[in-house]
Amino acid sequence: MNKHFSKEELEEIRRKTPGTSAVIHFNNAGSSLMPTSVFEAVNDYLRDELYLGGYETAAKWEKRLASCYDAIADLINADRDEIAMVESATAAWYKAFHSMTFEQGDKILCCESEYGSNFIGLLQAQKQKGIEIGIVPSTETGEVDLGALEQMIDHKVKLIILTHIPTNGGLVNPAEEVGKIAEKHGVPYLLDACQAVGQYPVDVKKLKCTFLAATGRKYMRAPRGTGFLYINKDQITRAESVFPDMLGGDWTSIFEYQARATAKKFENFEYSRAGLIGLGEAARYINELGIGRIWAQVQTNASYLREQLGGIEHVQLTDQGLLKSGLVTFLVKDKGSYEVQGYLRNSQINVSVSGIWSTRIDMEKRGLEDLIRVSVHYFNTVEEMDLLVKRVQSIG
Ligand SMILES: *Cc1c(COP(=O)(O)O)cnc(C)c1O
Repeated sequence: MNKHFSKEELEEIRRKTPGTSAVIHFNNAGSSLMPTSVFEAVNDYLRDELYLGGYETAAKWEKRLASCYDAIADLINADRDEIAMVESATAAWYKAFHSMTFEQGDKILCCESEYGSNFIGLLQAQKQKGIEIGIVPSTETGEVDLGALEQMIDHKVKLIILTHIPTNGGLVNPAEEVGKIAEKHGVPYLLDACQAVGQYPVDVKKLKCTFLAATGRKYMRAPRGTGFLYINKDQITRAESVFPDMLGGDWTSIFEYQARATAKKFENFEYSRAGLIGLGEAARYINELGIGRIWAQVQTNASYLREQLGGIEHVQLTDQGLLKSGLVTFLVKDKGSYEVQGYLRNSQINVSVSGIWSTRIDMEKRGLEDLIRVSVHYFNTVEEMDLLVKRVQSIG
């Protein structure tokens, strides 16, 4: 199979993405445009709820609901029993983080591009449990420094956390290499793959991660309010759910309950079944197109855009990383990021602003307050990028 999509395939993909006829969408790292098949699956499911009732619809769709786990598992090379449906990447991350017990003096290592919500979780654990946070320095090009990471591992280190593709720019962290180090030292590894799943070929066997957190609405193109947690089989019995309910556990006698032996123990009884249908269909669609081709196309689009923007005098590109993702960030001289976003919005061009609050360690280090973030997907075209570039050119 060809590494890139042909012109005909891209036209077909865009026909199946009706949003592309209404807007120029470069906010795929915020929340992407759904494919028609995802929308229709969710819609069909909800229509059945309208006419049949919620529980009755779940019974009717039982097989299809179960197959969603297979599609998600296939996407990241996991087993269906290792996947739990949750509402967001943050929910997945918190469920993973609090499944472990920490004691005073335990150390957790993280990277400089750690995501704000995750870091707040670390700060809370520092306050409540007296854990220590070790921030592994980055290399000159922005990746977590693997040598420094290995040096910082000692008997106190109980967890390594990493953000695979940070929210504030093109950087791709060497998550597979971190996994090798974690495995070698027998330290659990929690990966925030929120921007990676749906964009990059995420393979948990290669990543060797213990836990992986992902969201639906970003590069997966699923509806909002969906996400999943991957937890390695060998960890499931050891890990405790902080919020076990009647789905996660079996109330076997009045004073006993039995936690489930699969990742289901991290799910809650109530979640959006229609959302799961949408998430499953989004995963199935990615598997059909091929994540390798998606990644190749995203990289081609992003490097084209970086090249074009880089040629504009009043633009300063701010992406780091030897290997770069579809998140393209920059500043415009003498213009605020929100002002630029608003200006583009007037031309039906959707971009976002990444602020200091989401990646404070990295942003402070680089003296940055906020950035304009243009996150491209495989369905974006050269014409769309040219139009964006033209608009950015005319701002200066
Ligand atoms: C968006 C984002 C999150 C949070 O995802 P939610 O689904 O909103 O919880 C976590 N990590 C990174 C790197 C992100 O970009």
